[in-house]
Amino acid sequence: MPDKKIIITLDGWSSCGKSTLARAMASALGYVFVDSGAMYRAITLYFIRNQIDIADPVAVEKALASVQLQFVFNPARGASDILLNGENVEALIREMAVASRVSEIATLARVRQFAVQQQQRLGKEKGIVMDGRDIGTVVFPQAELKIFMTADKDIRVQRRLKELQQSDPAITAAMVRDNLEQRDYMDANRVESPLRQAVDARVLDNSNLSPAQQFELAMGWANAIINQAN
Ligand code: C5P
Repeated sequence: MPDKKIIITLDGWSSCGKSTLARAMASALGYVFVDSGAMYRAITLYFIRNQIDIADPVAVEKALASVQLQFVFNPARGASDILLNGENVEALIREMAVASRVSEIATLARVRQFAVQQQQRLGKEKGIVMDGRDIGTVVFPQAELKIFMTADKDIRVQRRLKELQQSDPAITAAMVRDNLEQRDYMDANRVESPLRQAVDARVLDNSNLSPAQQFELAMGWANAIINQAN
């Protein structure tokens, strides 16, 4: 009998390394990996490019009707890139211009419904690892394994800075810290599905853990659940 497939969710603060761990787990388990943040970022890019007035519900509705999101596997990265209306925007959505608007746009109930519906569809067959902010609480409350990731803020700033400076050396630690604090605040305080630790989530504080150590810990949890389910 093949292994029973489960759903694994990774939620937590910005720049905790959720996507890195989720991707590694999906690859080890032969599961699909979905970066739900990439969806909110791609929607934000569309809104910026088309100067959508987010205070106007009709404009928001119309904009969403014109947004098509798709993931395509990129063998060079060993992960999926996101396409916005057929255009590969994986690199563009990581830029500060998007990072500084995304959490505001992700507060909109209609935007969240739009994204959550697609996320739930992607998880229908199980065998999925999805990271985000509300995956264990709203998207897949029935998930077999929920992980809530956290890390010391200074460490998160340094990790993110290193990543962003590869494409833009002008980025400073203060800019990254401001952006992180703003996003965390908005994510935790919005009315619609705020960032919360699910009651049945396991906490993974990776401040002092190497990627290999985090992977080992999380895979231990996952394998115990998968073996139990068989
Ligand atoms: O995960 P990432 O940092 O790329 O997500 C970008 C932003 O999208 C977050 O700061 C958050 O505001 C929003 N987001 C969300 N719900 C999710 C995933 C991301 O609100 N499930």
